[in-house]
Amino acid sequence: MRTIVAGNWKMNKNAEEARALLTAVMGRSCKAPTSVEVLVAPPFPYLAMAVELAIAARDCGVTAKVAAQNCHHKESGAYTGEVSVPMLKSLGVDACLVGHSERRQYFGETDTTVADKVQLLLKHGMEPILCCGESREERENGTFNEVISRQLRGALATVAPQHYARLVVAYEPVWAIGTGLTASPQQAQDMHAHVRATLKEIAGEAASEVPVLYGGSCKPDNAAGLFGMPDIHGGLIGGASLEADQFLALITAAAKAKHL
Ligand code: PEP
Repeated sequence: MRTIVAGNWKMNKNAEEARALLTAVMGRSCKAPTSVEVLVAPPFPYLAMAVELAIAARDCGVTAKVAAQNCHHKESGAYTGEVSVPMLKSLGVDACLVGHSERRQYFGETDTTVADKVQLLLKHGMEPILCCGESREERENGTFNEVISRQLRGALATVAPQHYARLVVAYEPVWAIGTGLTASPQQAQDMHAHVRATLKEIAGEAASEVPVLYGGSCKPDNAAGLFGMPDIHGGLIGGASLEADQFLALITAAAKAKHL
């Protein structure tokens, strides 16, 4: 099973800061490469720079990848201001976040557009990083398992089993994103086991190698417990990916937890 530590920068950093952070993350990963996949998801304007630095890091043995934070759900056309999957592919971008809770909450992302984006990314040979997660209310009223099943089924209903080799899922409880609250390792493990069971119901054995990342206030001081859980295959990291020391410490924590 792959282990992935992915940094979602969100709408942060100017160009100079972006170059400094990418150079630090890729350069320092190069000094002690592990088989943890190091993935960065900077804002659109920095993707080409990130691809260039990730390719250089691959030369020294790091599995370095670049993801966009979003893409449009149509292939091309009159959609002013949008960025398409073929554009990302042509830049050398490897992956794309889909269905992040901030996109669902602030930009009207629905299970239907999420499904369209997943299909387009797979069609163009890219990796969708499909985000799912329940709200605080859904955690408290006990419907969290149903919510996650619904999000996964909505996004994946039409995906052919052979495409699961390129799928990554991120479980991100909305109440833990950017709040400093985090799921306990056991809460996260229980949900990751539920994600795995749901993926198997949808796609059978094809789903057995899909990495399931945890996201939600994951930091160096809580990562060992989370990454030590058997069904957690790394992290999708927001705040702590904006600082090279913290992000690199998370990569080290994942390598240690998974004996890589
Ligand atoms: C995220 O937004 O994907 C995320 C996990 O953020 P944070 O780590 O800041 O909670």
